[in-house]
Amino acid sequence: MLNFNDTEKAFAYKTDQQLKKARFLFGIMQFNGLVKLGTILTPFALKIHLPIKGIIKNTLFEQFVGGTSLEASSAVISMLENQKVDVILDYGVEGGEYDDGRYDAALEEFVKVIRFAATKKNAPFISVKLTGLASTKLLSKLNLNAYEVSEFVSDQRMNEKLALLDVHEKAAWEKLVKRTEKICSIASELGLGIMIDAEETWIQDPIDHIALKMSRKFNQKKSVVYNTLQFYRHDRIAFMQAAYQDSLDHGYQLAVKIVRGAYMEKERARAEKLQYRSPIHINKEAVDKDYNEAIDFLIQHHTTCSVIVASHNENSTLKAVQLSIQENAQDALHFSQLYGMSDNLTFNLASDGYHVSKYLPFGPVEEVIPYLLRRAQENSSVAGQTSRELSLIREECKRRGI
Ligand SMILES: Cc1cc2nc3c(=O)[nH]c(=O)nc-3n(C[C@H](O)[C@H](O)[C@H](O)COP(=O)(O)OP(=O)(O)OC[C@H]3O[C@@H](n4cnc5c(N)ncnc54)[C@H](O)[C@@H]3O)c2cc1C
Repeated sequence: MLNFNDTEKAFAYKTDQQLKKARFLFGIMQFNGLVKLGTILTPFALKIHLPIKGIIKNTLFEQFVGGTSLEASSAVISMLENQKVDVILDYGVEGGEYDDGRYDAALEEFVKVIRFAATKKNAPFISVKLTGLASTKLLSKLNLNAYEVSEFVSDQRMNEKLALLDVHEKAAWEKLVKRTEKICSIASELGLGIMIDAEETWIQDPIDHIALKMSRKFNQKKSVVYNTLQFYRHDRIAFMQAAYQDSLDHGYQLAVKIVRGAYMEKERARAEKLQYRSPIHINKEAVDKDYNEAIDFLIQHHTTCSVIVASHNENSTLKAVQLSIQENAQDALHFSQLYGMSDNLTFNLASDGYHVSKYLPFGPVEEVIPYLLRRAQENSSVAGQTSRELSLIREECKRRGI
């Protein structure tokens, strides 16, 4: 019987020492002011070479990151394999304006990650951020509207946008398509899945368009390319239905990773500043409603859809579990949580035989700092409440008597 409160299973992989360390770390993260200060000071301290790398490596890094390189992540990958948990390798390349050499180097890194994943028994997916493979400026130029979200990116509308590019921009776009195609093609050959991350609304249309092109090409027989849908957006239910229709029209498997969305503050701030309707739902209830509706839709269509429920939300996870039992859809369903978070979901799901993975970032300490600071912010106290993570860790410490 699935029980997300079973802390014994959730933390079985942690020694007493490691658990105490996690308790200390999540305890520190409760102090909002400290996290805010750390977020400001850390990048500065690293810039002037203050010796804080070791402290970060022993604390936040150890909790949330697989290792300083792919090879160094092997121990965590094996530990997860022993617990019947898969990994989604996350090469967190930073987006920005660079020359082609940098984007080609990122492509080669992604290929390396795919080849490495193929040597592991429990690494069926890798995640890809398209902003690591092309200019963000170009992507924003290709968004259908600068200030409004679009419910679906038809070929015709994207072609109209592409026709407005100059010759250099057109070449840059073609290169991005080729780079993505190479990644998907190698993954397909090696039997792996590619998850295309969702990013900000003002660059998301061309990302959706590429995901669609790749899905049409590579998902004919099985799910290789997964697009990501953010249900904090008020237009994503309509988008999902249109994407499903496209999969029927072109005879491919619709594969999606569903998330709530990571850029809420940024999206709202931009909408307010530039005076347009925010693409984000007005409250959390509306987001939860759409997220759960997506779970319903995708599981009910499980013979032609593959879905990854990427969430730390217990209600949504439980809902997906119950529906998958009802619809006999367990094989089309996969769950995923970030490494270092929601172990109560991951390890209890795995122990009950569900497909579940940890999203596992890796890389040198200084490169994963932005990721670590986001995790610290996410786990800092909301209105004085003890985080769910800390309560569970404390409960397990109490059970072990440590
Ligand atoms: C494996 C994995 C992959 C991910 N990949 C991506 C990705 O590609 N792109 C991406 O954007 N994010 C991604 N995320 C992050 C994700 O979008 C969420 O930020 C995060 O998982 C928290 O949502 P939740 O479902 O876990 O839980 P919850 O704690 O139930 O929800 C928190 C989320 O609800 C929304 N929310 C909170 N308050 C409000 C409010 N007042 N009004 C409206 N909405 C609100 C926000 O999206 C917030 O992040 C990923 C997460 C995981 C676990």
